[in-house]
Amino acid sequence: MSPFPREDYRELKRYHFDRTPVALDLSDNTNQWGTHPAALEVLRRADDDALARYPDLYADNLRAAAAARAGVAEECIATGCGSDDVLDCTYRASGGGSGDFVSIAAPTFSMATPLARMNGMRARLTPWAEALDDPERLLSGDPALVYVCRPNNPTGHVAPRAWIDALLDAAGENGPLVLLDEAYVDFGGDPLATHAAEHPRLLVSRTLSKAFGLAGLRVGYAVAAPPTVLEVEKARGPYKVGRLSAQAGAAALADEEGWVSRTVAECVANRARAEETLAARGLEPLPSSANFILFRAPSGDGPRDALAIRARGVAVRPFPGDMPDGGDALRLTVAPWPLVERFFEALDAYTAER
Ligand code: PMP
Repeated sequence: MSPFPREDYRELKRYHFDRTPVALDLSDNTNQWGTHPAALEVLRRADDDALARYPDLYADNLRAAAAARAGVAEECIATGCGSDDVLDCTYRASGGGSGDFVSIAAPTFSMATPLARMNGMRARLTPWAEALDDPERLLSGDPALVYVCRPNNPTGHVAPRAWIDALLDAAGENGPLVLLDEAYVDFGGDPLATHAAEHPRLLVSRTLSKAFGLAGLRVGYAVAAPPTVLEVEKARGPYKVGRLSAQAGAAALADEEGWVSRTVAECVANRARAEETLAARGLEPLPSSANFILFRAPSGDGPRDALAIRARGVAVRPFPGDMPDGGDALRLTVAPWPLVERFFEALDAYTAER
């Protein structure tokens, strides 16, 4: 008999996607402008204590910086080892009893479903078109938690604010928590952090892995009303954010020299240019409010196209079946223009040879 008796673990797999080295990796939505200079400065100045001593229990300096950035009080912030950790703790705090499920508008972030399994729940996916048509569909059957990504990965769309309000109204005072994943909100869409700080049924999660360029340090945070924050922190446990990660994250969040606003502005301009260039090739880019663009796989076979483009030195990520009509898609992370050009050279070389 297995020493790991949980049936719901059986179908779970370790997270996997192709990370073999490639000349240019535009597959994972990390920051192609590099990392925040203020964070790098903190790491350069690190002393013995930064490594030899435990960090704060709940990363108070990072909490303060995130609160200032989001325009809320410190009690409205929970931090985590990447926003994956914030999501994990929110799932764990919300459910896990027999029959519990997380309701998810799909397609969306690839961890939304496995996190349910990891926390003893099932995932129920509602196609975005149906969910947008009537937000109450996400609430049917009494889910333990609702997951909505906004701007959504991988499609890049932003669910309308009125739709979010309707979802929260329908959840009412006794419904589930709505977890709004704002990993990409720095690139577009209206942030709902201040709303979350006052709303008993809303939690917003954020990451420093994208606009702030700190994916390697693993820093994320949640904004919610203080009683919700308390539950998430209970599920999280102490010492989850390393001392240097917290210090570097806090410096980046302060963004005193405006590095984030400058690089985000360039990313948004390049996104528009890349969308036009893809459209000119008939590849139907979906309008994006994030730092990536989803578009139609040129041959109709996403994994094959991604492999062929990778063979020409550029990684993009395939999303089989994720075009609105069910066709295969590819996702390109937006980058400084010379890098985007290298992607188009690889794409054109491949399509010319097909
Ligand atoms: N949410 C979304 C929508 C994401 O795309 C990602 C990363 N790809 C994350 C959360 C997790 O980010 P991290 O754990 O690096 O903060």
